[in-house]
Amino acid sequence: MKKFKIAITVDDLPLYGPTSELYNHRQIALDTISTFEKHEIKGVYGFVNGHHLEKNPQAEIILNEWVLSGHKLGNHTFSHLDLREATVQEFCKDIEANEKILEKYFTDVHCKYFRYPYLLEGETLQKRNAIREYLFDKGYAVAQCTVDYRDFVWNEPLALSVDLQEYALIEKLRTGCVESALYRVDLAQLLSQQLFNRDIPHILLIHIGLSTAMFLNDVLSAFVERGCEFISLEEALSDEVYQVDTPFISTMGRNFIAQNAEIRKLERIPFPPLPVTFEELEDISQQLRRKSFVFQST
Ligand SMILES: [Zn+2]
Repeated sequence: MKKFKIAITVDDLPLYGPTSELYNHRQIALDTISTFEKHEIKGVYGFVNGHHLEKNPQAEIILNEWVLSGHKLGNHTFSHLDLREATVQEFCKDIEANEKILEKYFTDVHCKYFRYPYLLEGETLQKRNAIREYLFDKGYAVAQCTVDYRDFVWNEPLALSVDLQEYALIEKLRTGCVESALYRVDLAQLLSQQLFNRDIPHILLIHIGLSTAMFLNDVLSAFVERGCEFISLEEALSDEVYQVDTPFISTMGRNFIAQNAEIRKLERIPFPPLPVTFEELEDISQQLRRKSFVFQST
């Protein structure tokens, strides 16, 4: 059993991905919060894109419930801006626009964290450093992450399965999601040993979507079975490994471990096929969409 420490972070609050008739965005957030309660995880940072509130001002209730449940909010830009398509000025303006939404949630004891959309930090060193300088001037720390199990790939087939009451399929998706999360942790631990000769405190990135609402509890239980200890983002980032600047520049988003692996030119470890492959997920979604269309037309 390989013990590890991990902080949980949740991106794209307050709304992300498809919903189903049974699960609206608010229920997704409430079930996610209740999973944290079950595992006694406190102070989870949710990274907000304020633009959702322009079209759905009622979604502010999700942010209020998040904070009232003892969790915290961070900045993820106002419009989930793709840094490849924005200048430094535009990007910083978008961070600032989001502050207007977040201001009332920031307190003295609350550290300001920023998570880059798509984990894109800049395709030139000049751009990267200019944005970092802006962030540090504004009192932000960068919320790195080391484990990202692509929770979003399960959302669409899951939403369709829930509406069509395809219970066997939901269980198949659940197993696939948990296994892929465990694999990503294994990989992060392995690379951590290779890069730093120890297992660093990890940071999980997930999104506030349907698969998080329905499967996160199983994922976290599987982590606990492996001897996982949940820690805060503040504790994880206080580790010295995160104090070293990793000048990673790329047009592709990479998590902290993958950035270091690329800089050190570590050999890529191939992903084993998931119990449900991406192609299979797309087939499942297509079949369910057809079935759902037949139901609606009859
Ligand atoms: Zn995001």
